[in-house]
Amino acid sequence: MSDEIKDTVENSKGSKSIAAFARAKQSLPGGVNSPVRAFRAVGGTPPFIERGEGAYLTDIDGCRYIDYLLSWGPLIAGHAHPAVVHAITQQAQLGTSFGAPTEIETELAEEIKRAYPSMDLVRMVSSGTEATMSALRVARGYTGRSRIVKFTGCYHGHADSLLIRAGSGVATLGLPDSPGVPSAIAELTLTVPYNDVDRLRMVFEEFGEEIAAVIIEPVAGNMGLVLPQGGYLQAVRDLTLAYDTLLIFDEVMTGFRVSYGGAQERFGIDPDLTTLGKVIGGGMPVGAYGGKREIMEQIAPEGPIYQAGTLSGNPLAMAAGLATLKLLQTEGAYDRLERVSQRLAQGFMDAGHRAELPVQAHAIGAMFGNFFAKDPVVDYATAMQADLALYADYFHAMLARGFYFAPSQLEAGFVSLTHTDEQVEQTLIAMGDVMQNLRRRRR
Ligand SMILES: *Cc1c(COP(=O)(O)O)cnc(C)c1O
Repeated sequence: MSDEIKDTVENSKGSKSIAAFARAKQSLPGGVNSPVRAFRAVGGTPPFIERGEGAYLTDIDGCRYIDYLLSWGPLIAGHAHPAVVHAITQQAQLGTSFGAPTEIETELAEEIKRAYPSMDLVRMVSSGTEATMSALRVARGYTGRSRIVKFTGCYHGHADSLLIRAGSGVATLGLPDSPGVPSAIAELTLTVPYNDVDRLRMVFEEFGEEIAAVIIEPVAGNMGLVLPQGGYLQAVRDLTLAYDTLLIFDEVMTGFRVSYGGAQERFGIDPDLTTLGKVIGGGMPVGAYGGKREIMEQIAPEGPIYQAGTLSGNPLAMAAGLATLKLLQTEGAYDRLERVSQRLAQGFMDAGHRAELPVQAHAIGAMFGNFFAKDPVVDYATAMQADLALYADYFHAMLARGFYFAPSQLEAGFVSLTHTDEQVEQTLIAMGDVMQNLRRRRR
């Protein structure tokens, strides 16, 4: 972060957040309960949030932001939408958890099945991590195989098998990304570059009969937003079918976001298993996994594969999720969401070109991604060529003007039903100003 920007941030009204962060660090590792919240990629102090309303976030210093992060994806209806708050409040008055079946769990499962015809049976859990971890167990239990394939730069939560980075080589035997992941587990995870069919085919030629599942973000949102190239997802489907390997679509981020039926609807692919989270909880902790009946029937109590949860199918989360999905069923909702994210992506490109900065941007459904990069971003390697320092300056300058984007270029941006054309217009004007300042400073 440049000194000039550091001064603006630290001399602004951020003093309460600075104190709150210092206090938090005494009791929470790094002051946070999830690492990215600490702003390590961009430097500075994260604003501590007091409240959210629609597209706005307000911090404890009274600064208001237009929020394009939306709790990292769940809040597609915006903050504290009256319908969602009403659903949660009504349910809370009836009780918050029973550890016994409720009808509302079936209702949400039915709604998910209607939108995702590949999911015959659905199991609710409490986070995306739990969903992907459980889907892998089911895939291994069902196929009797141990290896899995993931793609470099795709994030599927922090379960041991999935916290693996790629190295070099064709069939890179996984190296753990984190101490604490045993190498015996990491070795079972093979990693290949995203959007590269040939590399995936080579891995199948070597290990095909041992691969239980391929897990993929069908639209990658955790290395910035990276779109699947034409025909890529179908090629992945064809290869997995040829080797009797299960295909797991991790739609924790893209589900009900790139379209109501997720990436599988948008790209016309029929995965064996799907994981969901974020939007389906409407801002409450939730996850879900599901898929073909004969696979899902292997789960306890129907079958031998064990998976359970004290708060799974939590009534508050089910109520918030159902209320959110109802809002998304409004005529034209996705056209509007897509128009807003396309405008943001296009605006970023236009402002960058005017300021002669290297820019790339993508948008799909209610997601967008901005990179300061010269070359097209198609995978993790190309995403990593983006200028992280330039993004940090851009991020802080936008934040200081009241626009809250992801505190890392390698994260996606999100829009909600409540973002107005006027708010987008303000954002584009600020983007233009900020980029001109960045150009001046670069000279
Ligand atoms: C956020 C995310 C997860 C993990 O979900 P948590 O609820 O944070 O555990 C998994 N997969 C994808 C694609 C995600 O974006």
